[in-house]
Order: sequence, then C-alpha cells, then structure tokens
Amino acid sequence: GDDVSKPTDMARDKLLGGLLAAGFDEHSCLSRYESNLYRKTSPYKPSPYLLSKLRNYEDLHKRCGPNTQSYNKTVEQLKSGRSVGSTDCKYVVWVCYSGLGNRILTLASVFLYALLTERVLLVDRGKDMADLFCEPFPEKSWFLPLNFPITNKFKSFDQKSPESYGNMLKNNILKPSTESLPSYIYLHLAHDYDDHDKLFFCDDDQALLKKVPWLIVKTDNYFIPSLFLMPSLEHELSMLFPHKETIFHHLGRYLFHPSNHVWGLITRYYNAYLAKADERIGIQVRIFDGPGPYQYVKNQISACTLGEKLLPEVDIRGSIGTPSENPKVKAVLVTSLVAGYFENLRNMYWEHPTVTGDIIGVHQPSHEAQQQTEKPLHNMKAWAEMYLLSLTDVLVTSAWSTFGYVAQGLGGLKPWILYKSENQTTPNPPCQHAMSMEPCFHAPPFYDCKAKKGIDAGKVVPYVRHCEDVSWGLKVV
Ligand code: GDP
Repeated sequence: GDDVSKPTDMARDKLLGGLLAAGFDEHSCLSRYESNLYRKTSPYKPSPYLLSKLRNYEDLHKRCGPNTQSYNKTVEQLKSGRSVGSTDCKYVVWVCYSGLGNRILTLASVFLYALLTERVLLVDRGKDMADLFCEPFPEKSWFLPLNFPITNKFKSFDQKSPESYGNMLKNNILKPSTESLPSYIYLHLAHDYDDHDKLFFCDDDQALLKKVPWLIVKTDNYFIPSLFLMPSLEHELSMLFPHKETIFHHLGRYLFHPSNHVWGLITRYYNAYLAKADERIGIQVRIFDGPGPYQYVKNQISACTLGEKLLPEVDIRGSIGTPSENPKVKAVLVTSLVAGYFENLRNMYWEHPTVTGDIIGVHQPSHEAQQQTEKPLHNMKAWAEMYLLSLTDVLVTSAWSTFGYVAQGLGGLKPWILYKSENQTTPNPPCQHAMSMEPCFHAPPFYDCKAKKGIDAGKVVPYVRHCEDVSWGLKVV
C-alpha cells in the first residue's frame, strides 16, 4: 500500500517536506539531515509559498550576508550615523538575551519579521549560540561579524535607551517626512516595554521603520501572534501559513539544528532510554515557586497523567500485578531542574505493578538545580532536553515555560499543560489539553492602532486567542 516508505519518500523526508535546502555539508551538522531518523514525519506540510519564501530568503542572505559588498556598504552607513538614501540590503539584528527557550522563540519571531519585511537576519552569538546551533542558511553565516561597530552597546540597551524606537518617538526625533532618519534603531520588545515601544505593532510605524537600514532587537517574547493582528501582514501570513498553528513548528525545524556536540547528547540518550519503547511520554516540570520539589506538584503530575489516562494507574495493594497478553513498554522522559518529581514517578512504578500490566520506565537526563546560563554544558543539556521532549508521542508541559513551548512546537504536539499553582496547592483541574501547538506571547500589546484606544487583542480574530496558561497572553490557534 501507499503507507510503505519508498526510497524517494525517504529522500524527501530528509529535507522535511522541502523545508530544508539540500546541499549542506552533512558532517558539519549531522542533525540537519538525520532528524528524520528520530522524529516521525510531520503531518503538517509547509505551504509551497513558505518554501519559495525560504528559498528567496536564502538567496538574499547569500547576497547580503556578513562581509559581502552590500553588508560592508551598509555598515559604513552605520558608522556615519545617518541613513542616506536607500540601501541595497536592510538588516535586523537579534540580540542574545534571556534563557535558552526564550531565545529560540524570539529568534524564530525575528526571523519571521525578517521574512515579512525583506530584511536579513543577523544573530548576536552571545556566549554560546555557536556551540548550540548549526548554521541554518547556505554559504553565508547567520552570525553578526565580531567587528560589528555597535556590538558593545547591546548589553546596555534597555527600556531607557535613547536609541530605542519608543524613546525616539517620545522625544520627537523621528519625523516620517525627513530623509535624515537614523542609520539604526533599537527595538525594545522585552517584557518591560512601554506603550511607545509597543507601537512597533502598528502598520504606520512599520512604514517608517521600513526606511531604517539597521534594526537591533532585544526581546524575550514570542511576538508572532501580534503580527497576525496587523492588517498589512494579514494576507501574507495567511499565504505562508494556511494552517495557522504551524508557524513555530515549521520555522523552528527550519532554523534550529542542534550542533554535533548537542546531537551526540540527544542521540545517545534517545537510543539508550527511549528508542525501544512502544510509547514515549514527555513530562516537562518547570516550577517558578522556588527550588522544590513540592508535594503539591507531585500530586498535580499524578492527577494529570492518571486522570487524562496518559499513564496507567498502579495497584497499591498488589505485588504481582495483572498479567497482560500484550504488555506495552512506555518510556517516560522527565525534565526538571530537580530530581524529586522523577524519583516519585519512578518509585511509584517500581514499587507497585500497573493495573494494565504495562511496563513503565522513568528517566531524567539531568537535574541542574538552577538556571546557570553561563556554564557551557548547561545550555547544551537544556537544548538536548527540549529536543528529546519534542521526540515524544505524548507531552505534558508546565504553564508559563518557553522551554516547554519549544518542545511542543518542534514536535508538532499539543501538550497537556500543568496549570500554575496558586498558594502552593494542586490546581483543579490539574492540567488542560492545549488548543494549539503554538507558543504563547506573554506580554502582548492591547492597542487598536486605527482607533488609537485599548482593545482586548484576544477577541479581534478567531485565530488569535488568549493562552491556556497566561490569561492575558496571546496565541495563534
Ligand atoms: P523558561 O524560563 O521555562 O521560559 O525557559 P528558558 O529556557 O528560557 O529558561 C530556563 C533555563 O533554565 C533553561 O534555558 C535552562 O538553562 C534551565 N532549565 C529549566 N528547566 C530545565 C530542565 O528541565 N533541564 C535543564 N537542563 N535545564 C533547565
């Protein structure tokens, strides 16, 4: 029948339905063409329009990327301080900022913005971006050259910077009519941005920003849902993503290929603990209440996984268990900064038989105790764990966590989201099945650009709604 993979299907799948360009050196980045050996073929096909847009972007990046003639010319403008006339290539620079999950989501957001505005994305490598990811674009690097003239300003850019779009508006420095726009503008799109910064999401403001050769962005938010509310982008976005909830699923699998070092962490762990199971269940535990482990969270994990029948009940009194004709082996992958939740589950399935006869193995790759973004192997492990979670069949995530959003998006999974606890008690219900696999935008603007007044941005169109886990957040469904 048609379900048998033919060699041609296999070859196509290696490029993820055309999402990836052929012709990269395979050894320098094993994960790029090997991910199809670990991840099931996605049921979501990228649109032909997205594929053509990506190929066009790759050409643009080749023509305008680091150290090309166009790049050098545009850097000269930056040094001169004024944007004189239009430039051949325009750029958007992503500044390395915040935790790894946040970074992956913001990089995807800024890349989509680059696609939509025909800008070239350049990436500030921070301390470890080059150790974590392969190059996604053919021939020319995505990294901002080390001698970029204003890299030393990136650290100090914040809500108060006079170079920010919001502050330039407040200080009346930007006059759309004048030809003398600055050569760069800092876009402060982080959680603490103000009403002026938020005008970034208005069409009139985009018309002005269009003329500026360099945009420098610092953000810790997946801001794509608000792009869907901009009339000027609506048509283009619906052509790129006819199936709306696949934005991060496609862009993430296009952009983020684990480096060979991280791929080793992923594949060794997968082959040792997950490959042979009949079913894989991922449980991502990220608790913002303090170090833990907490009993109310242990109870919540059990209430969700047992209540939703993701895992079988145990027979507390039995010691032998019901023999099953066809017992299934289920591998549970727990990720958390602490070991307590994993130990609790593992002991439960070791000390008692399951009522179904299924065999449950529980595994956790690391317990790093706390966020230590400065330690090189720490973020490699974090990235490996997000990726491993994305290879599971059933996923449980924690509310508010971008770490979980990355896993669900890459995996094309609608997770069960463990609600955030109030007053250290187990929420009831403990979890909810997500409406879509898209990440949540935690700090969206609530502003109607045309009417110049506040609105509920979650009620404007049916496909941008408030998130399950953050009531004021926005997500595409
Ligand atoms: P968020 O804070 O949950 O939205 O996710 P981020 O990834 O942005 O920041 C959390 C950071 O804490 C990660 O980048 C890791 O450095 C660390 N971290 C949190 N949870 C885990 C985990 O389960 N495993 C590992 N290895 N690191 C984690």
